[in-house]
Amino acid sequence: MGMSFDPMQSIAAIRHEFGEHGGVNMSVEVSTAFTVMQASTMPDIFHGLLGPDNAGCYLYGRHYNPTVYALAHQLAAMEATESAYCTASGMSAIAATIFQLCRSGEHVISSDTLYGGTYALLNNFLPERSGEKTTFVDFQDLSAVERAFTSQTRVVYVETMANPTLRIADLPALAEIAHAHGAALVVDNTFSPLLVTPALHGADVVLHSMTKFVSGSSDVIAGCVCGSKDFISSLMDVTSGALMLLGPTMDPRIAFELHTRLPHLGVRMIEHGRRAAAMAALCEGHGLRVHYPGLSTHPDHARLEALRNEAYGWGGIMALDLETAERANRFLEYLQNRRQFGFIAVSLGFTETLMSISASSTSSEMTPEDLRRAGISPGLVRISVGITGTLEQRLEQLDDAIEATLR
Ligand code: PLP
Repeated sequence: MGMSFDPMQSIAAIRHEFGEHGGVNMSVEVSTAFTVMQASTMPDIFHGLLGPDNAGCYLYGRHYNPTVYALAHQLAAMEATESAYCTASGMSAIAATIFQLCRSGEHVISSDTLYGGTYALLNNFLPERSGEKTTFVDFQDLSAVERAFTSQTRVVYVETMANPTLRIADLPALAEIAHAHGAALVVDNTFSPLLVTPALHGADVVLHSMTKFVSGSSDVIAGCVCGSKDFISSLMDVTSGALMLLGPTMDPRIAFELHTRLPHLGVRMIEHGRRAAAMAALCEGHGLRVHYPGLSTHPDHARLEALRNEAYGWGGIMALDLETAERANRFLEYLQNRRQFGFIAVSLGFTETLMSISASSTSSEMTPEDLRRAGISPGLVRISVGITGTLEQRLEQLDDAIEATLR
């Protein structure tokens, strides 16, 4: 079971980007404009016919920048896609992808369990402002996905690991259904970098909020789009590209930062996963309702076993259903204020543990009815398990908080 692909090996196999003077780190190219030596080549450079990959040169920083491009190559290697582009945030990667694939009046089928910002984009912003419509479906029910198609459907949208219930998408089946209808499968892989490589299971476009695990330090907002050369070129087209024309590109200084962090993404993901697995088991041992796909009791354990790249564990995020907001608040305050176990904060993938109540934070864009349908109770606590301190120390703190606040 499992996949033999190793994304870290794939990243390491591409040519090392030395600094300008032979430095072991690549240089940061901050220029926003690049010199063209022969004026006659400008039209072809402008229209992407002569570019950094085909005997041309760089043109302008919102188009391509060498430092940002070097990071994009690594991300394409990580996600086993032909190409990639780095964006200023995860949301801009998502929005640009939907805009590029869907015109006004066209249709998206989306999982009903996903990050609240994406939900708000698809449910509120796009239909009201630019006319793309979305049908939300329980993706565990493939016949419901099938029934949701219209002649206008262009995108099937899903998170590999759904935020915050950690249900795992059946990517090969969704890809087959999407492709049979001529639609693209777009996958947000933010929760599961390295663990799952969606393009190997049929995804056409893979997105990340690199603000999370890829950064690892909760200090940078960033995103990326990974896909075919044709799709990434279409996003960068000077007359019709959503990234080129909306402009949410990544700053080269940020690209350099993330470039220095990618080499230890592998060891971080393994450690996040090792600790999350131990904490999920501890909570389950206390009889709590735990969502963690590494547990054999999780409904999608076997599915993730089949999809995952074996070396990188089962993920660094778990959720605990404490049923009521009161119980969840008491538990989190004890963990943060009495035991320094972690922080009550949104986001994920940080070195420290981050804990949030989804219904009142990152899923609060959803209506009470949508929250209920997605299985997000008012007491559902999402925990992004950190890697500071020792595991033994953290398990003792967690055990103490359960005894002190949930008995
Ligand atoms: N996708 C998922 C799964 C997320 O959790 C988030 C943010 O929390 C985003 C996308 C948006 O990313 P960003 O905040 O980098 O725009």
